[in-house]
Amino acid sequence: GVRFPKPTTTRIFTIANQKGGVGKTTTTVNVAAALATGGLNVLVIDNDPQGNASTALGIDHQAGVPSIYDVIIDDVPLQDVIQPCKDVEGLNVAPATIDLSGAEIELVSLVARENRLHNAIRAYLDWRAEQGLEPMDYILIDCPPSLGLLTINAFVAAREVLIPIQCEYYALEGLSQLLKNIELIRGHLNFDLHVSTIMLTMFDKRTNLAHEVAAEVREHFPDQTLEASIPRSVRISEAPSYGQTVLTYDAGSTGALAYREAAQEIALRGTQTSNDQTTAAAAE
Ligand code: ADP
Ligand code: MG
Repeated sequence: GVRFPKPTTTRIFTIANQKGGVGKTTTTVNVAAALATGGLNVLVIDNDPQGNASTALGIDHQAGVPSIYDVIIDDVPLQDVIQPCKDVEGLNVAPATIDLSGAEIELVSLVARENRLHNAIRAYLDWRAEQGLEPMDYILIDCPPSLGLLTINAFVAAREVLIPIQCEYYALEGLSQLLKNIELIRGHLNFDLHVSTIMLTMFDKRTNLAHEVAAEVREHFPDQTLEASIPRSVRISEAPSYGQTVLTYDAGSTGALAYREAAQEIALRGTQTSNDQTTAAAAE
């Protein structure tokens, strides 16, 4: 298959949208699988107590399995909870178990409560370097729909935000609130955070509405919105019940193709950005 370019440093994304059911988890697991299929080292962090990303990637996550809860609350090293995805080489997962549902409350009383995931990821990347392991190319963090401390931890840990937008009624509802929250985090907790990527999902090309929503999103976010949109597809929605992404469940389907295209675009853009930055730095 096509190999994607490696970024110069680990790119860390939070997949966010305060609406539920818009395709955050589906986007996280399929983009991650597509990037890994493109020859990159990818880690998915399941930061949602529902554990849907863990399920979709066929990862063991019943209560008691070492998970992101242990990392965030008990300082267990990230490398001690990570499991490889059996179907996709280069894809690893830090699972979420039901324990994580208590974390929102437990976090309140902890020191540096907003920075715990950030610190865990830094320590993990340092550990990889010390071990002489290949650098991690991408880390994708799947979030719950609420703006609680778990989501704030993800926003502090990431540099980039990927917002999936469903091409349906009320698609843009809540978006301005999300953007305001990202601004707040940027101002107070993470100066680097920015919305780098917007992905149109559940696009039904037969409806005028889908085209209208897509046009509106592209008009508001011309630089962030990916050219590739993700179609509404039964294969995409079926895959998780087999513990698979659509990339292995039905590699030739339109959904798999769309996610590969979207992931390639993300990978290519990242390389351009870092080149631009290098050029800018060299010019100074
Ligand atoms: P979120 O994580 O934002 O709550 P999910 O990724 O779980 O959203 O998606 C919500 C539902 O929509 C799931 O049942 C999922 O299988 C389905 N879904 C997501 N993307 C697509 C798509 N492109 N085509 C069809 N169904 C989809
Ligand atoms: Mg989800």
